[in-house]
Amino acid sequence: MGYLDVLQKMSLEQIRSVIEVIQQASDSYLFILDLATNTYMISERTTERFPFDSTIIEDCTEVLKKVIHPSDYAMVAADIAKCASGEQDTHALEYRWLDRKGKVVWINCKGTVVVGTEGHRMLVGRVSELGKKAKADNVTGLRRETRFRLNAETLLRDRPESIRYMMRIGVDNFPEINEKEGIEAGDDVLRELAECITSSVNESVDVYRLLADEFILVDAEGACASQPEEIYNEIKRKVAATVRLKEYNRFYTISAGILTGDFRYKTAEETLRLTEFALNQAKRTGKNQAVRFDQTSYNRYLHRLNMRKALRRDINNQFHGFQVFYQPIVAASDYSLVGAEALLRWSNEQFGSVSPAEFIPVLEESGLIIPVGRYVLWEAARTCKKWRDVLPNFRIHVNLSYVQVHRSDLMKDLDTCMEEVGISPDGLVLEVTESGYIETDARIKELFQNLKDKNIDLALDDFGTGYSNMRYLKEIEAQTIKIDRSFVVQALQNDHDYNLISHIIDMAHSLGSAVCMEGIEQAEDLQKMMAIKPDLIQGYYFGKPSSADQFEEKFLKTENSLANA
Ligand code: C2E
Ligand code: MG
Ligand code: MG
Repeated sequence: MGYLDVLQKMSLEQIRSVIEVIQQASDSYLFILDLATNTYMISERTTERFPFDSTIIEDCTEVLKKVIHPSDYAMVAADIAKCASGEQDTHALEYRWLDRKGKVVWINCKGTVVVGTEGHRMLVGRVSELGKKAKADNVTGLRRETRFRLNAETLLRDRPESIRYMMRIGVDNFPEINEKEGIEAGDDVLRELAECITSSVNESVDVYRLLADEFILVDAEGACASQPEEIYNEIKRKVAATVRLKEYNRFYTISAGILTGDFRYKTAEETLRLTEFALNQAKRTGKNQAVRFDQTSYNRYLHRLNMRKALRRDINNQFHGFQVFYQPIVAASDYSLVGAEALLRWSNEQFGSVSPAEFIPVLEESGLIIPVGRYVLWEAARTCKKWRDVLPNFRIHVNLSYVQVHRSDLMKDLDTCMEEVGISPDGLVLEVTESGYIETDARIKELFQNLKDKNIDLALDDFGTGYSNMRYLKEIEAQTIKIDRSFVVQALQNDHDYNLISHIIDMAHSLGSAVCMEGIEQAEDLQKMMAIKPDLIQGYYFGKPSSADQFEEKFLKTENSLANA
């Protein structure tokens, strides 16, 4: 026989006595709500903490209205009405009570309908303080995502115009804290942060804890006139003070994503997505800051997301829509064709033909560059093998992404490719850029050494853009340095850059590297650049990237000198 069956056989008085006894051994506040007479019966202890004047309250509506937070009352009353009407037999909600000082106390209320011997439907249950429980459980004492979803759904449906903002807050380096200092340190940080947040907002602002280190604030009362950024700054100040107080034992900063504007027609799910996006933006663009949700950036992000899906589909469909183009590289000495750079092209029904500058980063972000990189390598190697029948020293340059270097077994791919296709290492040149590598990364050094041992040449691409670093030049020992078109264009326009490139060429030569000048479009540009003695030239002047067939037609069928191109 279960407890419920026992209770069903008791009178109201008997149940009350049992409850008084159990109450002494419980942290929770036990109660009986007689749904037929609207009489609320509670323990002595409950009256000490909350503003109830006696343990038996007849016609309790008005009293409950005083104890239950005004924003939650309607929700609670509706749920209890369902218990009274017989529509449901259990009651389980988390909401706010106000204590004797008017301070908000989060509670969890659970009850079961019992039909007593008098035939009355009674809700028998307990109220427990979430904060208390939370302390014992070592968490933040805030409600979680499920509760946020439920509350936000109601709010967005009934009073969307009252929402001033939602703000999602996250710790910038939480995984690091957990990893380095242990889970307990992580929990301490979360507790501290929860305290900094709740003490910075007034009571009408709802605070929930989401995933690991994230919190969401919902201001639906508009009672406080502060801008969300001001609140974020206040929390940030408190966090900094706490970190200082703990003598920088645990250093962390926080970022926030803020959603404001029109909340009508939004779902809870959507608000979670949008605030997450804004928070990620804040983290991506420097951390330790608050960023407001911006529709334009979000649309751009969705565009990239869709592009990623389309790319994945095409990759899985035997690289449908992908093609490798080739652009000639000529020797500066006599403009003879010495090689070509393999350049990836992608066109898709939905996106049309997309520039590599746009789709390569999407492939990199998603790791899809790894299968695509293999596809390019095999295509380029096969093409090279074929063209070497005409020009035995012909070399194909293949661009490598740092993602391939970091996250795939490149040496194995290269070995397999060379063996399967039957091409020797001197037929390939691998183009790498500096960005994405850390100079001291041991794996990179090992890779460069392996390539050297295998006699596969490296070219340092994009030289003159962004982060060019002379030390890197020395470390990777590239056989070729490719001066980027943007730098060449500048050098064509001003003497300073022109002289700079001239010196770089001298320096590269003294290190034993050749220099390839990229992006030469006009005869006069070529002439001007020839004066500073590059070794190789690549540019529209000698040929735009084209399909293998077109390339063969144009450069390999007749002669191999491009002097008259
Ligand atoms: P990159 O490796 O520096 O390639 C040279 C880029 O300059 C190519 O752009 C080429 O078409 C362009 N170019 C060459 N000569 C001229 C010229 O005279 N004038 C102008 N205006 N442009 C010229 P593309 O094909 O759009 O590729 C852009 C970038 O995308 C490449 O820069 C490379 O970083 C990346 N990429 C292309 N294919 C691959 C690939 O298979 N794998 C990887 N990881 N990246 C690739
Ligand atoms: Mg390149
Ligand atoms: Mg380049």
